Amino acid sequence: MQKVTIDAGFTCPNRDGTKGVGGCTYCNNDGFNPSYCQPFKTITHQIAEGIEFHGNRYRKANKFLAYFQAFSNTYAPLPELREKYEEALRFPGVVGLVIGTRPDCIDNEKLDYLQELAEKHYVIVEYGIESCYNRTLKRINRGHTFEDSVSALEQTAKRGIKTGAHFILGLPGESRDEMIAEIAIINQLPLNNIKFHQLQILLNTQMAIEYERNPEQFDFFEMEEYITFFIQLLERLNPAIVVERFAAEVPPRYLAGPGWGLVRNFMLLQKLERLLEELDTWQGKLIQ
Ligand code: SF4
Repeated sequence: MQKVTIDAGFTCPNRDGTKGVGGCTYCNNDGFNPSYCQPFKTITHQIAEGIEFHGNRYRKANKFLAYFQAFSNTYAPLPELREKYEEALRFPGVVGLVIGTRPDCIDNEKLDYLQELAEKHYVIVEYGIESCYNRTLKRINRGHTFEDSVSALEQTAKRGIKTGAHFILGLPGESRDEMIAEIAIINQLPLNNIKFHQLQILLNTQMAIEYERNPEQFDFFEMEEYITFFIQLLERLNPAIVVERFAAEVPPRYLAGPGWGLVRNFMLLQKLERLLEELDTWQGKLIQ
């Protein structure tokens, strides 16, 4: 099964003035969208191109998940969401939806509809949570609190819809110990899947300006250090939560701060797995 990314032309309340303007300080969506994802193309067209694009790398995939990734993919009236999601589900071989959104872009009406979809298809709502600490959320201009995230996850999970969460490690002002302490909080959340990535500063972002002015406020991970650190988190993480991603691979041409060079995700994964074996450790090892 292969995920196929779509840019369905949604916007974001943290950019259009509803919640804020300028967006989260680290956000530059260009860094994440594959080249075939352009909102002027229909969803059907994007899925067809995405399947062809991945066909060269993952020849065996014959089932697909439509991944609504760009911006906030529940930020529109229900009839528009319905039309877009159902267009994706009509594409031959598409068996489910992965919907990336903000915790403050969901309501009972939308969740009730997603519950209906989830009875027939694989549906996961992936929330950008980024940090459990409200002072960090404020600093990066997320425009919502951690309590908003908890409430969205609870409302989603109680309807039997799968839940995912995204966290950034290394946000300014957070110590390593605080990041480790987050795991105990995460373990209490009704989560199926989780993604982490190390902070990378992208060009044309507010954070790039902050970094240029006050580089001493940022504490970046070196690659080897990050992998060792991540193992400490993994040992404390509930083994029932699927880790979908533990690091990012933003192309160096998008970076305004230090990076790890042209490293591919599978190489990072190999390093992590090798170290787990060497240390004879695993996800959840330290949980009693
Ligand atoms: S990171 Fe997501 S929520 Fe934040 S401004 Fe960008 S699209 Fe909006």
